[in-house]
Amino acid sequence: MDDLRKSFKHSQRIVIKVGTSTLTYPNGKLNLNRIERLVREMADLHNQGKEILLVSSGAIGIGANRMGLKRVPRTLPEKQALAAIGQGSLLHMYEKIFAEYGQTIAQVLLTRDDLNERIRYLNATNTLLAILNMNVIPIINENDTVVVEEIRFGDNDTLSSLVAGIVNADLLIILSDVDGLYDSDPRHNPDARLMSEVKEIDTSMEENAGTQGREFSTGGMLTKLRAARICMAAGIPMVIANSDEEQVISRIVAGEMIGTLFVPKENRMHAREKWIAFGTVVNGIITIDQGACTALLKKGKSLLPSGIQKVEGDFQRGDVVAVKDAGGREIARGMVNYSAKEIGLIAGRRSTEIENILGSKDYDEVIHRNNLWVNN
Ligand code: GLU
Repeated sequence: MDDLRKSFKHSQRIVIKVGTSTLTYPNGKLNLNRIERLVREMADLHNQGKEILLVSSGAIGIGANRMGLKRVPRTLPEKQALAAIGQGSLLHMYEKIFAEYGQTIAQVLLTRDDLNERIRYLNATNTLLAILNMNVIPIINENDTVVVEEIRFGDNDTLSSLVAGIVNADLLIILSDVDGLYDSDPRHNPDARLMSEVKEIDTSMEENAGTQGREFSTGGMLTKLRAARICMAAGIPMVIANSDEEQVISRIVAGEMIGTLFVPKENRMHAREKWIAFGTVVNGIITIDQGACTALLKKGKSLLPSGIQKVEGDFQRGDVVAVKDAGGREIARGMVNYSAKEIGLIAGRRSTEIENILGSKDYDEVIHRNNLWVNN
């Protein structure tokens, strides 16, 4: 376990989730001191060359406060209106504080559909990766204003774990107003002990968790356990900690025993295989030359059109295909950025020629390495 904690200092891509209870005082107003402190820590990690994705709640709570409401209204349209009001303020605040530390941010609003449908999943992933490539910090929230019940994540704990999964993060940190997971409810039991590590989530933990948070909050421990389950299955370590700890983010990344660590069940490679478990159905086959095989297998590169020799099957963008070497051995699976027809046209050509051939170019890669599972 210690080794896992120690390995956090090498984590390159970190998702950090902050909840409404962290961002605001119990009266609903912004806790500027705390926000400043957290933003400064994130900016500092970014300066060290790490990639940071921030999943931030607060839109509805801040909107409610703006409108002078003491509690969140019950009807969906009213909540959605408040989210529209609050999301602007939220981003404005982040923009201001991150800018003070020289950082650029990007607003990303997601709905569950963006991750459920393969094509949109692919878009969401590619956009987030492009933002990271530009050295920008994405600030992600649910698109509360347009979302309807059927396509809601409902809470940002779940959203943050799914985001960690799609960008293949090294670590998810959930910051909250609790120290972590206790072996019984600390509000009722003074002897409750903080668990520093959890390897398995059992139903009793969920029963103990309870659901209520503060007035403007959604989550509570139950949604955090749900998020932990997703991370554990995806091979990503997750830490729940109290945002009031001094230097909480940097100390977690440095490997200190803070909060509760949820230990992933499987190593990343294996989990990745599952993640592309979309890949139970393979929609086509791409055969590639020796150079591309080496690039994929040995160098962990993306698949570019130049190395493609043959395309079989009738698949669309976002489908999963098998990648084979010239001898017919399946060396990888991945999610394609172009349809079979398009790949047929650009096979063997350089990425710089894609636009001329297809009339437009959204991607240099036929399969981005993030969406590729290599069968070594
Ligand atoms: N998306 C909601 C908001 O920004 C918060 C959801 C949550 O607290 O988990 O207000």
